[in-house]
Amino acid sequence: MLPESTTVLIVGAGPAGLCCAVSLLAHGVKPADITVVDAQPAGLNLSRAIVIHAQTLEDLASIGAAEPIVARGFHSKYMRIQAQTTVLARANFPSLESYTQFPYALLISQADTEQLLLEKLKKQGVVIHRPCKVTDMHGSDDGLRVAFEGGEVMRARFVVGADGSRSTIRKLANIPFRDPSTGKDPHGQSQVETTEPYGFNSFAPLIIADVYLAGHIPPSVSLTDLNTFMSQYGYLLVAPLPAALDDPEGRTIFRLSCAAEPGAKEITKARLQQVLKASIGLPDEQTPIIDTILWSSTFRVKSAVADKFFQRLAGGVVALVGDAAHVHSPAGGQGMNLGLRDAVRLGEILADITRFDNTDATVSAKRAYIAERLGAFSDERRSMAIEVIKMTKLLTWMTGLQSVFARTARNIIWWLMGRTSLVNNGFAWRLSGLRPGTKAKQQ
Ligand SMILES: Cc1cc2nc3c(=O)[nH]c(=O)nc-3n(C[C@H](O)[C@H](O)[C@H](O)COP(=O)(O)OP(=O)(O)OC[C@H]3O[C@@H](n4cnc5c(N)ncnc54)[C@H](O)[C@@H]3O)c2cc1C
Repeated sequence: MLPESTTVLIVGAGPAGLCCAVSLLAHGVKPADITVVDAQPAGLNLSRAIVIHAQTLEDLASIGAAEPIVARGFHSKYMRIQAQTTVLARANFPSLESYTQFPYALLISQADTEQLLLEKLKKQGVVIHRPCKVTDMHGSDDGLRVAFEGGEVMRARFVVGADGSRSTIRKLANIPFRDPSTGKDPHGQSQVETTEPYGFNSFAPLIIADVYLAGHIPPSVSLTDLNTFMSQYGYLLVAPLPAALDDPEGRTIFRLSCAAEPGAKEITKARLQQVLKASIGLPDEQTPIIDTILWSSTFRVKSAVADKFFQRLAGGVVALVGDAAHVHSPAGGQGMNLGLRDAVRLGEILADITRFDNTDATVSAKRAYIAERLGAFSDERRSMAIEVIKMTKLLTWMTGLQSVFARTARNIIWWLMGRTSLVNNGFAWRLSGLRPGTKAKQQ
C-alpha cells in the first residue's frame, strides 16, 4: 500500500529511477524516506540499452552498485567500425586504463541492469509500488500533492521525475522539452520523413532485434566486441550479449540494429539476413544465419532536452533524471548511461538537501541551499546532455549516409583517421563519458 507521505518520491522504476534510489541510500537517506512507484504492473523484461561505459561504471561503483553488473556483462575492448572485413576505425577502450578501473565497454542487457539494481534495493528494504500511475501533481506549502490513477493522493517533499521520455512529471512541472537545435518538442512534431543533404533520412525508423545466430561466425564478427558494419543499407550493429540466465544451453544473444525496410510493417528474419549478408560481405557458407528472433522493436531517432532539470512548485521541488530529462539517438549507446549518471548525482545532492532540510536553518536558507545545489545539478547535467545530443546526431548522420559517393568518401576518411591511435583512443574517450582530469583509482 502507498504511504500517505514520503520525503522523496521517485516516479518511474526504469534504470534511472532505480539508480537514484540506490544512490539516495548510499548517501545516507533511510529506506523509510524513499518511495518508488511505477505505472507498469511489472518491470519490462526487454534488453533495450546494451552498453554501459566507463564513467557510468565509476559512478555506479561510487554507490556500491557496480560489482554484480560488471560481473554479469561482457567486457568489450573495442567498438569496431567496418566495411565488410576491413576495419575502418575502432574505439580502443584499453587506452583508458590510466583514467579508469573499467577500461572497456560493458555489454549487458538493460533488463539485467534493472534486475541487479532492483535486487540491491530489495536487500535494503525499498519496495517498488506497482501499478501506480501518477496523473496529477500540485505544489503545497510543505511540498507536493501527487495524485494517482487509483485515486490515492500522496504528500512528498521532493519528487524525482524518472518516468521516461513522455514524462508526466515534466509536463505537470511545466518544463518544456525540445530539440536544442530546432527548438521543437519531438513528441509534438509530425513524423514526416525528410531527406537531408547526401541522402540521410532523419526520421527513417530503425530496428533493434535480439537474435540467436547459427552456422559459421567469421572472425570479422567479434564474439566479445561491438561490431558496426557500414554498407548500402546504412549501419548494422552486431553486439554479443550474455546468455539469458534461464537458458540451459548458455547461448550468446546478439543485438542487431539497422535501418528498417522502407514501408515494411514487421521485422522479418529475411530482412535481417539480407542486411547481415551485405554488411559482412562473405559467401553464404561463411555468413551466420539468423536462427531465432527473441525480441524486436522499431523506433525513430528523437533528440530533446528539458529546459531545466529542476523546478520549484510552491513548497515542493521536482527534479528530472534519465529520458525524462533528455533523449537522443542510440548511436554510441549513450542514453541509459547519461540517465544512470544523472541519477547517481541527484541521489547524492538530494541526500545533502534532505539533511540540511532537517536542521534548524531558516526557511530562506533552506530555499537558497536547494536553489544552489539543484541549480548546479541542472546546469551540469543539461550541458552534458546537449554534448551527447550533438555527438549522437553526428554519428547518426555519418552512419546513415545513403549515396555511394558520400559513403565511399566517409569510409576513406574513417580508414585514414583509423590508422592513428590518437583517433581510436580519442573515440574511446568520447564514448566513455570520462572527463578531463580523471585518474584511475588504485585497486
Ligand atoms: C525500443 C528501444 C530501444 C532502445 N535501445 C537503446 C540502446 O540500444 N542503447 C541505449 O543507450 N538506449 C536505448 N534505449 C533507450 C533506453 O532504453 C533509455 O535511455 C532508458 O530506458 C531510460 O531509462 P529511464 O529510467 O530514464 O526511463 P524508462 O526506462 O523509460 O523508465 C521509465 C519508467 O517510468 C514509468 N512511468 C512512466 N510514466 C509514469 C507515470 N505517470 N507514473 C508512474 N510511472 C510512470 C514507466 O512505466 C517506466 O517503467 C532504447 C529505448 C527503446 C524504447
